[in-house]
Amino acid sequence: DVTATKGNEFEDYFLKRELLMGIFEAGFERPSPIQEESIPIALAGRDILARAKNGTGKTAAFTIPVLEKTNITKNEIQALLLVPTRELALQTSQVCKNLGKHMGVQVMVTTGGTTLKDDIMRLGQTVHILVGTPGRVLDLAGKGVADLSKCTTLVMDEADKLLSPEFQPIIEQLISFLKNERQILLYSATFPMIVKSFTDRYLTKPYEINLMEDALTLRGITQFYAYVEERQKVHCLNTLFSKLQINQSIIFCNSTSRVELLAKKITELGYSCFYIHAKMLQAHRNRVFHDFRNGKTRHLVCSDLLTRGIDIQAVNVVINFDFPKNAETYLHRIGRSGRFGHLGLAINLITYDDRFNLYKIEQELGTEIAPIPPIIDKSLY
Ligand code: ADP
Ligand code: MG
Repeated sequence: DVTATKGNEFEDYFLKRELLMGIFEAGFERPSPIQEESIPIALAGRDILARAKNGTGKTAAFTIPVLEKTNITKNEIQALLLVPTRELALQTSQVCKNLGKHMGVQVMVTTGGTTLKDDIMRLGQTVHILVGTPGRVLDLAGKGVADLSKCTTLVMDEADKLLSPEFQPIIEQLISFLKNERQILLYSATFPMIVKSFTDRYLTKPYEINLMEDALTLRGITQFYAYVEERQKVHCLNTLFSKLQINQSIIFCNSTSRVELLAKKITELGYSCFYIHAKMLQAHRNRVFHDFRNGKTRHLVCSDLLTRGIDIQAVNVVINFDFPKNAETYLHRIGRSGRFGHLGLAINLITYDDRFNLYKIEQELGTEIAPIPPIIDKSLY
């Protein structure tokens, strides 16, 4: 059980009263295991390399110590929180603002796809914590608009993604802007080897947290597959919609064009549905994401843009309309349901071409993806 803890209380960490208020108002009664491991170590100033299952509260595990260490009387950027996608940046900054709402802390979010002008203006005022995607932050730091020279804490969420070849050079440049005595905290559910060479170079005796026995990764999520032909997929989806008790669902496709096409078909079938993919304008993406989170529609069709970190507790069903190519993507996609101890259902539409991949991913994750039964017990999700 991901909510089973050692029995610590948030009060045990001697946090500022204003921060504790924010934590309790967020509805957190006691720290989750990753929070129990991570908060005291981070407060003590050590570097951390933490691996924990999706939906177990990693965001607060770094946000709480970052907030606690912020000195709001100083007009300086003291912490930089990096994430790989724009939606995740918004979500993370929101968590930060919520937990810190009684502290008077200034949290700013910056991502690509918005105008630099607004950011520059915003940075002219007080910012204590900067949350963003790497490219934009580097842009601002490079132009001398964001002063990171007093920044002592760097958090990288979904760290393995941030250390992939696409981002790593940007991250390394960014680190050169930070204060020399700095603390680096890395969090992810997946940690391939590329992370190791980075941590050897940039982290000092990192405290390693691993709450990830692989078999447990997908606990709470029941996984099924339906064997279909490509042209039957929409029909199959229609059947699933009528049979399942979907609170909210996320439906994944492997390309942006398929996302749009499927969303259109779902609408034609008479279901309310939004779609989101990387080629949409950022303002539009934000609105769709915001509206889906607020329950304005039941279904969201998307590309792998939304696989990482996104936390919407109402999502109880994830459907892979197109089966993903690798285990890591699979894990992150279906981890969108089953958040924080809730149960979830993952349904995979499998075509003839996917059959080996299904087997491979099952093996790699040490999990079972069973054929879909005629009736799915509601108590499973
Ligand atoms: P992760 O990053 O590990 O995938 P998140 O940080 O997105 O997980 O948290 C998942 C959900 O759990 C969020 O909705 C968050 O509000 C909730 N949560 C986090 N910590 C606690 C806690 N201590 N008590 C109750 N709910 C929590
Ligand atoms: Mg997360």
